[in-house]
Amino acid sequence: MKSSSSFYSKDTGGNVKKELKLKKMKVTKQKRHRRIVRFYTACFGFHQPFKVLCDGTFVYHLLENRIIPADKALADILSATVKLYTTRCVLAELKRLGKSYSEALDAAHNLIIARCEHEKCKSADTCIMEVIGRNNSEHFFVASQDTDLRKKLQEVPGVPLICGLRNALFLEPPSASQRQHVKTSEEARMHMTDSEHHALKKIVIKKFAGNEEAANSSDENDDLEDQAAGLLEKRSIVKKQIDIKDKPQFKRKRAKGPNPLSCKKKKKHENKNIHLSKKTEDGDSTMKRSRKRKRTRKQQKPTEAES
Ligand SMILES: [Zn+2]
Repeated sequence: MKSSSSFYSKDTGGNVKKELKLKKMKVTKQKRHRRIVRFYTACFGFHQPFKVLCDGTFVYHLLENRIIPADKALADILSATVKLYTTRCVLAELKRLGKSYSEALDAAHNLIIARCEHEKCKSADTCIMEVIGRNNSEHFFVASQDTDLRKKLQEVPGVPLICGLRNALFLEPPSASQRQHVKTSEEARMHMTDSEHHALKKIVIKKFAGNEEAANSSDENDDLEDQAAGLLEKRSIVKKQIDIKDKPQFKRKRAKGPNPLSCKKKKKHENKNIHLSKKTEDGDSTMKRSRKRKRTRKQQKPTEAES
C-alpha cells in the first residue's frame, strides 16, 4: 500500500515536473548553441571536426568540476565532433604554477599541440592571441576561464568562445563587433565601391552625351570601359574568394517544376508529330523510305519503295 501511495504522491509529481522543466531547459540551451555554431559555419567557414583551443584555466576548471571526459562534454555542447588543442606556452605556464596545477598539466599533455612560433615561451593569453591572429584563419574555438582574454578575443572576427559555468559549459553568442563585421563584409559584397560607381557613371554619361562626341573620343571611352571592366573583374575575383570561405553548408530545397503526377499530358505535341509525319509522307522523300530502299537494294529490288 505504501509503495502505491508514494507512486501517486505529490512529491513524485513535483519531481516529474522538475525533470521535465530541466529537460526543456536543456533542449533550449542546445538549440541556442546550435544556432551559434551555425553562425560560425555559415559566416566564417568553420567545419567539423571543430578545433577547440584550451588554455590552462579551462583545463583546470574541467578537472575541478569533473566535466570529463572533456572531449565528450565539448562535443555535446557543439553537437559535433571536436579536437582539443593547446599550446606549448600554455603547458609551460601550467608547469610554472606548480603542484596545485599538476593534474591540469597532466591532462593538458593529452591535447594536440597547436603550433605557436614562440621559441621563448610567452604568457598563455599572449600566446593564444597570437595563434588566433587577426582573423582566426585556423578556425579555432577558444575555451578559457580568463575573462580578459575572452574580452580581447570578442573583438577579433570569427572567434567563438567557450567557458565553464560551474559544472556546465557555455558557448558565448557572437559579440556585437563580430556581428557587425559579418554585416559590413556582406554589405561590401552587395554594393559597388565608390570608385566602381564613379567609373560606371562616367561611362553612362559619355554614352548618352551624344553619338558624335562619342565617336570622336572613342579611344577615351574604351580606356574608361577597360578600367571599369578591370575593376569589376577584380571585384568578382574577391567576391569568389569570399564566397568560398563563406559558403553556407546547407542548401534550401526547391521544387524544380510542377508535380508531373498532377499534370495532364500535353496532346498538342502528339498532334504536331502526326502532322509532321503526314507532311513527310506527302513530301518527296522520307527517312523511313530511304532506309527501306537501302534494304531493298541489298535484295536487289530497288524500285519497290518508289512504286
Ligand atoms: Zn606560444
